[in-house]
Amino acid sequence: MAKIAFIGLGNMGAGMCANLVKAHHEVAAFDLSADAVAAAAERGARAAISIADAVNGVDVVVSMLPAGKHVLGVYFGADGVAEHAQQGILFIDCSTIAVTDAREAHEKAVEAGFMMIDAPVSGGTAAAEAGTLTFMAGGTRIAYELAEPILKGMGKNIFHAGAAGNGQAAKIANNMLLGISMIGTCEAFNLAEKLGLDAQTFFNISSVSSGQCWSMTSYCPAPGPVPTSPANRDYKPGFAVAMMLKDLHLAADAAKAAGADIRLGELAESIYQNLSERGFDGLDFSGVMKDLKGDL
Ligand code: NAD
Repeated sequence: MAKIAFIGLGNMGAGMCANLVKAHHEVAAFDLSADAVAAAAERGARAAISIADAVNGVDVVVSMLPAGKHVLGVYFGADGVAEHAQQGILFIDCSTIAVTDAREAHEKAVEAGFMMIDAPVSGGTAAAEAGTLTFMAGGTRIAYELAEPILKGMGKNIFHAGAAGNGQAAKIANNMLLGISMIGTCEAFNLAEKLGLDAQTFFNISSVSSGQCWSMTSYCPAPGPVPTSPANRDYKPGFAVAMMLKDLHLAADAAKAAGADIRLGELAESIYQNLSERGFDGLDFSGVMKDLKGDL
């Protein structure tokens, strides 16, 4: 059992924080939203009134924040975690942020006498609630071994991806592949339909042929074949266009810095950018299907 400060109790953080409580950790919860803190307290965490209050006496800080600027601000800004936490403790940031921001955070943490792990997640709010997230962690072996039992309280599959920032690298490479494969799956279903096949018939064939992929068999963008997919509820997310676009921007920036050719990744980015500019940020990312059909 550890003493943990959890910072960032939004769509993802709320369930993750509650699962740490269920795993018998002593958790102090903080968010800028007082309502989010109150909701965490109802689920067994201690309501903290500030970052300083949350990190008082804890062994571990876990954060789930929107973007890199929030992570750097919360940990290393004025009145932030590093200013108030006990030296030597472990920081686990689970947010999806730029690889460069994650590496900057690691450097700052080590300079200030702390250990840090970047541990972004795969899986949405349902997995966060159920404690079945996949974590991909970057940092030293020692820090990873300290983080692993904490992450196990919130997830099912936990991976050490290597050095600082490698968790974020795994996350954006995975999500770039997801964006590309979703668009490809939408195009295949649309083409099949235009050529005279109904969605279920094409699914039956392709899901056991070489076109099979997660976007098809777990999240089918055509209504019908996979009852749980957002296509069956008019593309309500799920995983929204805005979130996919965020991850594709991160992938494009990282690829530019690393000199990696991601021409399909860039094309996927432009397709989601176009949806976003037309006001469809809140549509599920499989809603590309609706656009191909001319229904947007
Ligand atoms: P969210 O916006 O719902 O939650 C973020 C929370 O952080 C909010 O409650 C906000 O008040 C809080 N916050 C912001 N700045 C703060 C500060 N300075 N101090 C304290 N609290 C602060 O976002 P989310 O959907 O929970 O996503 C969090 C992260 O997880 C993002 O990086 C996102 O990319 C990633 N992610 C989300 C999903 C998903 O399905 N929602 C899936 C995988 C990864």
